[in-house]
Amino acid sequence: MADEDEVYKAEKFERSKRLHDEETKIKRQAKMAKTAGYDIKEPHRFHKRKALNCGNSDCFLCMNPRKATGEKTIQEKKFEQREKITGELDELA
Ligand SMILES: [Zn+2]
Repeated sequence: MADEDEVYKAEKFERSKRLHDEETKIKRQAKMAKTAGYDIKEPHRFHKRKALNCGNSDCFLCMNPRKATGEKTIQEKKFEQREKITGELDELA
């Protein structure tokens, strides 16, 4: 019984945290949009689309960097860096 209560509390906390985080992200995007002088009648639009993204998939600034310049994404760079470090550590061991 006590375990069920703890699981319930944990799920409740996770849900409230998720909702709070979403609201925080939307508020941050709305603030950015306001600073940039954009219309913020519907701040919840920023839940899916970021405030400073123009929405045009051919826009050089907003598109995927790989599509624009062939540059690797941040996740790919991170992954390669981590692989390199672990490889070097394996050589030392
Ligand atoms: Zn753009």
